[in-house]
Amino acid sequence: MNFPPLTTTVVGSYPASPEVQSLFNYCKTGQDPYAESIKEAVEAQISAGIDIISDGQTRNDMIKLYATKLGGIRMRQKPVVIGELEHRKPITLEDQKLAKEIMGDRAMLKGIITGPFTMAMSCQDDYYSSQEKLAMNFAEALNAEARALSGIVDILQIDEPFFSVEYPDYASDLITTIFAGVKIPKALHVCGDVSDIFQELVELNVDILDHEFAAHSRLLNIVADVDFSQTIGFGCVRSDINIAEKEPEISERVKRGIDSIGKHKMMLDPDCGLRHLTSEVAKEKLQNMVKARDNHES
Ligand SMILES: [Zn+2]
Repeated sequence: MNFPPLTTTVVGSYPASPEVQSLFNYCKTGQDPYAESIKEAVEAQISAGIDIISDGQTRNDMIKLYATKLGGIRMRQKPVVIGELEHRKPITLEDQKLAKEIMGDRAMLKGIITGPFTMAMSCQDDYYSSQEKLAMNFAEALNAEARALSGIVDILQIDEPFFSVEYPDYASDLITTIFAGVKIPKALHVCGDVSDIFQELVELNVDILDHEFAAHSRLLNIVADVDFSQTIGFGCVRSDINIAEKEPEISERVKRGIDSIGKHKMMLDPDCGLRHLTSEVAKEKLQNMVKARDNHES
C-alpha cells in the first residue's frame, strides 16, 4: 500500500441531502433524487482538497443502508433478522460508480461497508439465536459487497463503531471473512475510545486502522507504546462539535501525531462521519484539515 504521507481522507458520511422537491418528483420522473446529494458531497470534498473521498453516504444511515437491502431482514424500528442473511445484489455499487464518474481523476475513492458486528448489534435476532453466528453470517453476506466494491474503489473501509463498546473474541474472524478476496487496501474504522483495545486491533489483517484522536487524546499515548504495522487513520478534527476548528489547532494535533507515529504511517481524516454537522461547518473542517496537512508536508 503506497499512499503519500499525510494523505487526507474522510470517514464517510457527509451532510448533503436531496431537495424535498426532487424526492416528490422521484415518483413522477423515476429520477434518483440521491444523485444530486452524491454530487454535492463529492464536489464539496474535492473542492476542500481531500485526496481520498467518499460518496457521502447520503442515501441512508449506516444500518438501514444495508439492512433494507439484505435478504433475511424485516424492517421495523430496529431491523429484525427473520431468516438466512443473503446478499442479493450489490447495495452501494451504483452510488460508487456515480461518485467515480463525477470525480473523474480529481481524487481517489473510498468504499465503506458497515461492519458485521455493528450490524449484528443493531438488529433483533429472531433466527440465528447466537450473536456470533449472526455476526459471522453478516460478514459472509457483506463479503459479497466487499468483492463487488473492490473492483471500483481505491480503498475499502469497514466501519465497526461497536468494537469500542464491546470487543468480541471472534473479531479477527469477522474481519478476515468480510475482506476475503479483497486485493485493494483494507481499512477498519472504529470510533469511540479504542485505548483499551488498540493492542488487539493491531493484530487484525488490515492495512489501515482509523480512529478518533481529536476526541480521545489519551489514545496517542497508547499508540506510542504499541508495535504495529498498519498505517494510522489519524482523526484530527471533531465530528461531534458543530464548530470548525481553526487550522493552528488541527496543526498542533497533527504535530503530536507525527511526533509519536511518524508522518509516513499516517493518513489524516475527521474523527468520524460528518453527517450531523451543517454542510458549511463540515466543509470548513475539511478545508482547515487540508491546510494543516500542507503545513506539515515538507
Ligand atoms: Zn465513526
